[in-house]
Amino acid sequence: MIHKQTGEKFLNEVLIIGAGPAGSVAAAMLVQKGYRVLVLEKQLFPRFSVGESLLAQSLGLIEQAGMLEAVQAAGFQYKNGAAFAHNGRYSTFNFAEKSSPGFGYTYQVPRGEFDHLLIKEAARMGAEVRFEVEIIAADFSGERPRITARGKDGSEELHQPRFVLDASGFGRVLPRLLGLESPSPFPTRSALFTQVYDGIPSGAFDRQKIRVTTHPKFRDVWFWLIPFSNGKASIGVVARDEFLQQYPGSNEDRLWALHREDPELSALLANAKPALPVGELRGYAANVSRMWGPGYALLGNAAEFLDPVFSSGVTIAMKSANMAAGLLDRQFRGETVDWEAEFAAPLKLGVETFRGFVEGWYDGSLQDVIYYPRQDPKIRRTICSVLAGYAWDTSNPYVGRAKQRLHTLAQLCRQGEAQADSAS
Ligand SMILES: Cc1cc2nc3c(=O)[nH]c(=O)nc-3n(C[C@H](O)[C@H](O)[C@H](O)COP(=O)(O)OP(=O)(O)OC[C@H]3O[C@@H](n4cnc5c(N)ncnc54)[C@H](O)[C@@H]3O)c2cc1C
Repeated sequence: MIHKQTGEKFLNEVLIIGAGPAGSVAAAMLVQKGYRVLVLEKQLFPRFSVGESLLAQSLGLIEQAGMLEAVQAAGFQYKNGAAFAHNGRYSTFNFAEKSSPGFGYTYQVPRGEFDHLLIKEAARMGAEVRFEVEIIAADFSGERPRITARGKDGSEELHQPRFVLDASGFGRVLPRLLGLESPSPFPTRSALFTQVYDGIPSGAFDRQKIRVTTHPKFRDVWFWLIPFSNGKASIGVVARDEFLQQYPGSNEDRLWALHREDPELSALLANAKPALPVGELRGYAANVSRMWGPGYALLGNAAEFLDPVFSSGVTIAMKSANMAAGLLDRQFRGETVDWEAEFAAPLKLGVETFRGFVEGWYDGSLQDVIYYPRQDPKIRRTICSVLAGYAWDTSNPYVGRAKQRLHTLAQLCRQGEAQADSAS
């Protein structure tokens, strides 16, 4: 509450750790409800972040945060779905075909620009945002949280807000400081990624979709290609960590060696020129033992990260921010909020739906469904809904029961394939 050097008082009601999509959406929603909000961000924006492909559901959350016009005016690459490719087989899902109500399109965004735009919008609405201030300690044992932050010059300040939202992403500030981290059930996967001037000839590929390519030999290895509106694209490969580590040389050598293993993808990228150095993230899946406690809640990646295959990260981050802002408003108005029943449990419904899809992707069942050419149109629409991010729509039979249903559906698809083969 009092700056150790200047004596300045900090009277904010909500302190948000991190200015990524979760932090910005929470800040914007809370200031619009009339609360004093302070966002403290460790880095200077714009900063690089991986995770450039959004889902259609995120636009509804952006709209509710009052940022839709700014996002629509920014000139990002329009995205209307996802394309999957494996050994000459293709399958595309157009978000407009989804069964759930809501937006049927979204954007592919360089995250440095996108995240900066969102936090500038939150600041324009009245949130106080300070960059290059890092949260280093947290104590929730007293009546009010005590949060210590350190500025770039090394000075420390103590904040005593009424509530803390941890939106620190992979920084996982409160899980680390409060010992809430728990192992992810997923095997350790890693990613190599970069941005390129893609040089893809016009018409060679649909820039309005993310392209997910399954490796020709290994079905649990996959590549993303996410085109932007500025002639650049984000590319990357995901595999089990031990698989990726077999490839020798620099990150550049390893990324391109893997791309050369898929002839179609490497033909598409034949003219690509580097726009950024190749980065590597190892073992990013994360989990926590609890998503809230007295005086705090964990948003987005600070709580859990599943896997990038269905581009669900930003949508989950924004959904958690949207839910927490609504609950905090009620709590500040004097209502009793059951954070387990009203935040953790309903948020997990969507996260578990995505988890079922991720598990189905890696065990092959969802890939059998996706690449099956004679899919029932009604079933396709419900699968398309989850792929578009509507993972909380309880009218969709795949929501909350994705894994079992995908396995049953995959069996039917395999039988259909076998029958078609024997008839031909
Ligand atoms: C390989 C890979 C590919 C991905 N692809 C996609 C994709 O295509 N689409 C998608 O939606 N998601 C994708 N994701 C996930 C996506 O990147 C994240 O889910 C998303 O960025 C989470 O948003 P957030 O707001 O929770 O956190 P972040 O965007 O990570 O923001 C957290 C902020 O907190 C700040 N911070 C950290 N520590 C501190 C501290 N101590 N004090 C103050 N500030 C701090 C950080 O500097 C950062 O700016 C991908 C992830 C990986 C690993």
